[in-house]
Amino acid sequence: MNKAYNIVPIDKTKSPDKVVLLTFDDGPKEEATLKPLLDALDKHHAKAIFFVNGYRIKAHPELLKEIDARGQIIGNHSYDHIMLGKEKEPKIRDQIERVQSQVKELTGKTPEFFRPPFASSNDAVRNVSKENGLLFMTWSNGSLDWDLGKKVTNKPQAVIDNVMKQLHPGANILMHELPWTGEALDSLLTQLEAKGYSFVDPNTIEVNVK
Ligand SMILES: [Zn+2]
Repeated sequence: MNKAYNIVPIDKTKSPDKVVLLTFDDGPKEEATLKPLLDALDKHHAKAIFFVNGYRIKAHPELLKEIDARGQIIGNHSYDHIMLGKEKEPKIRDQIERVQSQVKELTGKTPEFFRPPFASSNDAVRNVSKENGLLFMTWSNGSLDWDLGKKVTNKPQAVIDNVMKQLHPGANILMHELPWTGEALDSLLTQLEAKGYSFVDPNTIEVNVK
């Protein structure tokens, strides 16, 4: 991953650069919105990072386990989905480390990826993230799916159009666990494949936290 949060090959001779990283924030919410995402990813043999919030894990631990059981990767998106950039170190540490513990307890795995809500950050956020062995990222391709709540028609198509408009090799695509994103995903992944893109397995990303 480079400084603009794009995915670039570690060895250019071995991996294609026409790849995208798929990410889904703000879950796990409910089975009805999660399942379409997991099913579309399975259909396309794609892996994604699910950036989860602690308060949602507390409400639905079984959904967190399901994401993991389906072979998808869990990332840390803070406990309460607050603007961490406005907080001081103790609160930031609590927000990040509580999620690390929850995920470890429920899945046996400790997250390696961190995305601050609203991309709101400061030095303490970056330091605590680093101390926990987390690779910090925001995104480079925003689907704007979070902004479609008031739109009445064609929401899935809007998600696809927004992603395709910003598409570039290595794009780090931000989506959310939302109904219209679930509806759009199968078709979106088909269109990405048709353009010659493949999906980065997050397990192959170098978590080079120094
Ligand atoms: Zn979020």
